[in-house]
Amino acid sequence: MAPRFQAPRGTRDLLPEELGRWQWAEAQARGVLERYGYGEIRTPLFEDFELFARTSGESSDVVQKEMYRFKDLGERDLALRPEFTAGVLRAYLERGLGGRARIHRLWSAGPVFRYGRPQKGRYRQFSQINCELVGSPAPGADVEMITLFVDLYEVWGFRDLTVKVNTLGTPEVRRRYRDELFRRLDPYRDRLSEDSRRRLDTNPLRILDSKEGIDIALMKELRSLRADQVPWLAEMLDEDSRAHWEAVLAGLEDVGIAYEVDHSLVRGLDYYTHTTFEVHDRALGAQSALGGGGRYDGLVAELGGPPTPGVGFAIGLDRAMLVLEERGAAAPALPAGVYLAAMEATHGAALALARELRRTLAVEFDVEARGLGAQVKAAGKSGARLLVILGEEEWTRGEVAVKDLASGAQETIPRAGLAEALCARLAQAPTSGGGARRTESR
Ligand code: AMP
Repeated sequence: MAPRFQAPRGTRDLLPEELGRWQWAEAQARGVLERYGYGEIRTPLFEDFELFARTSGESSDVVQKEMYRFKDLGERDLALRPEFTAGVLRAYLERGLGGRARIHRLWSAGPVFRYGRPQKGRYRQFSQINCELVGSPAPGADVEMITLFVDLYEVWGFRDLTVKVNTLGTPEVRRRYRDELFRRLDPYRDRLSEDSRRRLDTNPLRILDSKEGIDIALMKELRSLRADQVPWLAEMLDEDSRAHWEAVLAGLEDVGIAYEVDHSLVRGLDYYTHTTFEVHDRALGAQSALGGGGRYDGLVAELGGPPTPGVGFAIGLDRAMLVLEERGAAAPALPAGVYLAAMEATHGAALALARELRRTLAVEFDVEARGLGAQVKAAGKSGARLLVILGEEEWTRGEVAVKDLASGAQETIPRAGLAEALCARLAQAPTSGGGARRTESR
């Protein structure tokens, strides 16, 4: 019988055995972010709807179709965050970070929400790691961002990633290009998909990365006709935009990042200027984007702040974890610990000992106080490396029995200094098949 309640469509539960990989990945990422000098920022899961409408662009799919928008009991118009950047920049302005230092390096991680059509690698609640470098217009900031982006994937074991990069130029260049695209595509309006007909009037650039077959075919056809050629934006760059673009590419070469220029990379949100970038993985099929980002020099001003440049990215954690799992990358093993077994007479003492050992060690303990046989059996299944038995006699003598479950070697060691003694044994590589050296037996 199906359970009465199920997780809402597009959401899922992650169980402890699945979360091992996530927690390992998050810890690795945190290390990289700290070494790059990024500080964590936590913003609310929901914000004023208007904040996202302004930043993502009224015409973006995220605002048009994918927002979890709701009224609270005070009639406030709110939305669950569909991405991080808007909230981070709202906090940047509200908390006056710009007045404290010229450049801020910030990261966040957590769930984001989009009402998309669920499929493999696409959920309505998913997790991102997000980074922003606010305050610098320099191409070096773009290069640092892309390098950090790649290093995060590399620390998770991704190799040979190719970053797709593109430039959208300044807002002025982008505007001119929009007009040009409109002029070229308007005569073919009837041949565009329904979404792209709408995009033609709101944001024609989005037609370039349409996934609809008829849009892709039309663009291909138009590009192959010389007379009607649709230019790429990169062909219309002004001097400043070109200099920025070339400096970013040169920086990527200096740092040794493999990239591929993809002129159709415009990204789903409307706020990007200059550099955009993404990485993809074939294992993900249709939802192949693992993460992406770009420069957003007009965004802080759009929120009512002083003109402030910035560049950032978001990494989709669900998809990264999916790829690692499909590749069979072993989930990192938890540090093996101790199983503490007791007799009826020593159960109370074992409770206290478990508490003490847990200050430094992973300890499993039978809360049901079953017989010793059942506990020893459970220890074998538990994955613990050491079995500590509080036998009545030994305990009275101030000792415990310790069995190395990997090698089978057993010894008796003093109760005093037990935690240190166990730590030392756990730190040694396990030897199998018996015959472990006794270092402390009486
Ligand atoms: P975006 O800001 O849309 O480029 O999203 C950044 C990354 O988040 C993407 O590259 C994906 O890895 C991930 N992502 C976006 N939408 C979803 C979704 N609905 N489900 C799972 N991951 C997603």
